[in-house]
Amino acid sequence: MDELIELPGISRKTANVIQQNAFNIIDGIVVDTYVLRVSQRLDWTKNKNPEKVEQDLMKLFPKDKWKKLPHLLKNHGRAVCKAPIPICSKCFLNKLCPKIGVEKFN
Ligand code: SF4
Repeated sequence: MDELIELPGISRKTANVIQQNAFNIIDGIVVDTYVLRVSQRLDWTKNKNPEKVEQDLMKLFPKDKWKKLPHLLKNHGRAVCKAPIPICSKCFLNKLCPKIGVEKFN
């Protein structure tokens, strides 16, 4: 990780993708815009900085979930928890989600 993020244009997100997919090394959680948005809506983080969001998620989830979690959040963010308006009425999490309600996102 330390060596990868020293390379020009390589963020921690990209370094995580490279490590996980090319080397099967799980040192963190890939945080993209989908992961960021859904994590904030579910109140898993109050942060906006992707590296801080990653740290928050790493505390919440066991390491064996770190690789799969972003894929699940990305799919959910594309299909249901969309920007700028989520489809909360069709969301399987709508009984648990603290941010349910489109009016909060307008
Ligand atoms: S209830 Fe709405 S805001 Fe919450 S996760 Fe589902 S789609 Fe997103």
